[in-house]
Order: sequence, then C-alpha cells, then structure tokens
Amino acid sequence: MNQHSQNGQTLEELQLRIDELEKREVELQKQLRLHTSLHSRVLDALPINVFLEDPEGRTIFANKQACLANGLSLDELVGKTVFDFFPQHIAQLNREIDLEVWEERRLITREAKVGFQGKESIMFSGKTIIELPESGKDFLLGFGLDITDLKKAEKKIEHMAYHDALTGLPNRWFIKAYLEKYLHDFPMGNNQILGVVLLDLDHFKVINDSLGHQAGDALLQAVAERLRDTVGKENILARFGGDEFVLIIPNVSSLDMVNELCDYILDVMKEPFWINKQRFTISPSIGICLHPEHGSDMNNLIKNADLAMYHSKEKGRNCYSLFVPNMKVHAMVRMDMEINLRQALEKQEFVLHYQPKMNLKTGRISGMEALIRWKSDENKLLYPDTFISIAEESGLIVPIGEWVLRKACSECKMWHDAGFDELTVSVNISPAQFQKQNLEEVISVILFETGLPPRALELELTESTVMKEPELASKILKNLKSLGISISIDDFGTGFSSLSYLKNFPIDTLKIDKSFIMNLGYDEENSAIVTAVIALAHILKLKVVAEGVETLDQLDFLQLGACDLAQGFYISKPVEINSIREMVGNCLLV
Ligand code: C2E
Ligand code: CA
Ligand code: CA
Repeated sequence: MNQHSQNGQTLEELQLRIDELEKREVELQKQLRLHTSLHSRVLDALPINVFLEDPEGRTIFANKQACLANGLSLDELVGKTVFDFFPQHIAQLNREIDLEVWEERRLITREAKVGFQGKESIMFSGKTIIELPESGKDFLLGFGLDITDLKKAEKKIEHMAYHDALTGLPNRWFIKAYLEKYLHDFPMGNNQILGVVLLDLDHFKVINDSLGHQAGDALLQAVAERLRDTVGKENILARFGGDEFVLIIPNVSSLDMVNELCDYILDVMKEPFWINKQRFTISPSIGICLHPEHGSDMNNLIKNADLAMYHSKEKGRNCYSLFVPNMKVHAMVRMDMEINLRQALEKQEFVLHYQPKMNLKTGRISGMEALIRWKSDENKLLYPDTFISIAEESGLIVPIGEWVLRKACSECKMWHDAGFDELTVSVNISPAQFQKQNLEEVISVILFETGLPPRALELELTESTVMKEPELASKILKNLKSLGISISIDDFGTGFSSLSYLKNFPIDTLKIDKSFIMNLGYDEENSAIVTAVIALAHILKLKVVAEGVETLDQLDFLQLGACDLAQGFYISKPVEINSIREMVGNCLLV
C-alpha cells in the first residue's frame, strides 16, 4: 500500500516535488550569480568611478575604475573612509559634501581639478542617496568621470573660434570680444589710452592672383610670424581677414611710442621674404586710431583706423598715418571719385594726349607717349595725377588701361596709314595691369584688331613694377617681348634698381626721370650721373630717352652726351592727336 502524505500526495510524488524545487533553487541561484556577475561587470566596464558608502562614509563597494583611480584593490577599499587614502583637506571637503547630500537627499554634482598620484585631471563627480529597503539601510552612491580630454577639446574649439587657422593669430572675433570687454571696463579710457592699429599689405592681391593662393597663404604666414615677433608681447596682433592685420596696444604711453613701433614694423618688413625659393618684398600701409580720443565704440575705432590706413595708401603706401577727423570727408570725396571714374569709362570721357619724342641724331619725331586725360562733365580736363591712384586702388585701372592700349594702338595705326609708318607709340602700364595674368593676350588681341605692327608699340613700366617680384616680372616681360613689342623702364633713377640688375630683363629702353634732367648743366654730380647712365645703357645695348627736357641747354647737354631721344615741354607739351601731324611733318629740328 502506498504511503500518503497529509494532502494526499504519495511520498514519491513529494520527493519529485522536492527535487523539482531544489532544481529551481539551483537554477535561481545560477541566475542570481549571473545577474550579480553581470551587474558588477557592467559597473567594472564603465569608464566611471562608482562607489557606495554607508552613512559613516565607509566604502561598501567600488567598481574597477574607482579602485584603479585610487590605486587600491576592492578589499583594501572596503571599510575605509576617504580619510584613509586622501590628503586631510581633500578628505574633509569630501566629507562635507557627503553630509550635505545626506542632509538634502538629492543629487549634488561638481566639476573639479584633482591632482592625485602625480596626475592632474578634471573630474565631473556626483553623489546621491539610494535607498535599499531590503537591507533597511540607505547608502550614498557616488560617481566620478574624468573629463580632462573633453575639457581639452572644449578649449581647442574655443581657441579655433577665436584664432585664425592659417596664421594661428587671434582673429576678428577675438578682437571684437577684447575691445568689447575693454570698452566696458574703461568706457572713458580711465586715464589709459588704447591704440588700434590697422595694417594692410600693399598690392597683396596682385601676388595672390598671379602666383596662386598657396604662395599667397605661405606669404601671409611668413608676414604674420614676422609681425608677431616685432610687435612685442604686451600688444595683441590679430589677423583681421584677408591681408589685414590689427594690432591692439593696450597701454599707449605717448604718441611717440606708437610712431616708434610703426617705424620699427616698416623697417622690419623691408627684409625680403622667400617663398618657394622666390623673393618677395611686401610693405604694409598702416592706420592708427586711439581710444578714447578717436572713437568710443569698436566699430568707430576700426573704421577710423581704416580711414587712416587709406590715407597711408594715398600717401604712397609703406607708411603710417594717425586718424584725423577730416579723413571722413576725404573718404567720401574718394568714394564719389570712384563712382565717377566707373561712369567715365562707360560714357567714354577719357581722351589721350600725345607727347612727342625726338630722335636727337636726326632731329625727327620718332614716337609719342600716350597720356590719359579725363574730360569730365563740366568739360574740365583732369590730369592723371588726380585720378590714377584711385583707379589703381579700386582696380579700375585694368579696364581703363585696356582702353588706353586699344585707343593708342588704333590712333597710331591711323598715322601709319597716313604714311608715317615709322612712328611708335608708348603706353604707360600700371603694376596691377602688368601683373594681371592675361596682359599678353590682351595686347595681342588689340594688335590684331587694330592692325598696328608690334614693333610700333612700346610699354612703359616703372622700376618698382618690375623690381617688386623680379622673377615673375622677367617671365611676363619675356612673353610680352615674344609678341614683338618693346619695353621701356620709366622714371629710371627714382627706384632702387641698378643698371646691372636691369640687364637681366629683356628691355629695350631706359627713360631717365625728369628730376635728373631738371638740373642738367647746374648740378655737376647730377650731370655726371646722367652721362654715366647713358654710357652704361649703351654698353648694355639699351636706348636712352631723357624726359622732362624744358630748355635748350638741357637738350644740348643730352645731344653731346649721345642720348638717343628726348621728350619734354621744350620739344612739345602733350597735345591732342591732330596736332601731332604738324610736328611729324615739320620734322622739328633744333
Ligand atoms: P609719366 O609716365 O612720367 O609721364 C610724363 C609726365 O610728365 C606727364 O604728365 C607729362 O605731361 C609730364 N611732362 C612731360 N614733359 C615735361 C616737362 O618738360 N616738364 C615737366 N615738369 N613735366 C613734363 P601727366 O600726363 O600728368 O602724367 C603723369 C603720370 O600719370 C605719368 O607719368 C604716368 O605715370 C601716369 N599716366 C599718364 N597716362 C597714363 C595711362 O594711360 N596709364 C597709366 N597707368 N598711367 C598713366
Ligand atoms: Ca611714362
Ligand atoms: Ca616718366
């Protein structure tokens, strides 16, 4: 007979049930171990220090990261308080925060620099209370995250926002933030004078356009480096954009001090730069504006420094100017002039006058120089000195120069067709025009369109135009020469180039500047220079033109010195095209 339990189950059935329950328990324990192991693995895998403390501050648990951070094993940590492993003052601070957390029972976080075990890091940490009803106790849960790298990245981003990527200098936003803070702190200067100095590189655009952006960038970097080494640590140099730099002088002791610094900058910038084995010289035009005298807000200060900088450009560049209020009026006049010039080109208000050149051996007119004039609305004749620099600055010189070339070639061709086919025409070429990539193409198209033989066209370039970047100039000149035209160096003697250097260029003629001719016969040294230049030029197989000949004495001197050609008021002032006929026909003989 089967034994039955009280609830009617047989003993076997009971045994089976017990076995089943035991199996369940083993299974549950396995699962519990798995969970516990999973939890601790998850906690250990976190790159965060996690720890639990009892109300007395004794460590109950710490994950792997927390053990590593403290340099102790879990066994060593358990039961210890921060007083056992932190310096007293840090441990004290920790305990105070713990007590605050226990009191307020909310999450308290903080960010702090910690130096521990010889390593400094920035930690984001937090503490809160967790309740464990099963144990009848509450615990303090703490965590700490090392955010050193994050902070570094944040700093880097901030640096990038306020610095220029190309030169590493502070940028426009830095200056804006700096000035805003300064003007807020010292609205009336507080007996302190601040200098805002704007530096703009002369003709940088020409270099950038003709040599490519890479060389342009390399030059900007080199300029930035040199300026940084020049301006002194107490001042702030920033790249304001393009080829513009701003220098802030936070503490101006006197205007002399600013002037001296600007003199020093101009001096240092004279040294050539070498980029890809090419030699460059580049000068800055500088404008100075002072706070509080010249402006009370940032926009005004920058604008006025800009006006002063433009004044330096007008003065001939490579110099500095201090802002004065009438520059504002001047700038407006200038802007008007630019607009009018643009319209003049459209309305065909330009005309050419021609100044003949006399061959000193034959006494005949052999060529003429084309000189631009502007017949404005009021029928006033404006001379190039009043508008060429603005045309150059605004870039308008390129289309105006092209108009001059076309007009001069077509009018010269008219004279050829009328039988004077030995007559040549000389055209002045501005630096911006010369360095424009397509000058050779423009000229060959114009020669083709007008039918003027290339031998009848001569280009007049100043020394500074070719000496600015000699290697590049030499290349351009060779290409131009290959068209069959002639090249003349204008205003010779006013630049820095030596004859021996010029012989490397494919040029045909030297035009001795009028300042040398003016004193011929009176100033012995001057006369000796002119004689020597003529002789040297002849050795180098160059023709010589003397310009600005105003007297018979000067003409005699030049004739004796075997100068080839003469040009000047004594022979003729620049005249309208129709008056040339008479001169050529009369063969003006002295
Ligand atoms: P530049 O090339 O040196 O031209 C000669 C200047 O000297 C002319 O002035 C001429 O009128 C003046 N001159 C000629 N003979 C004498 C003389 O015996 N005594 C004196 N004191 N002066 C004399 P202009 O026409 O006013 O031209 C001034 C400058 O403007 C030129 O100097 C040239 O650099 C520039 N220019 C003129 N036309 C053009 C042009 O079409 N394109 C460009 N880019 N520049 C031009
Ligand atoms: Ca000339
Ligand atoms: Ca000249």
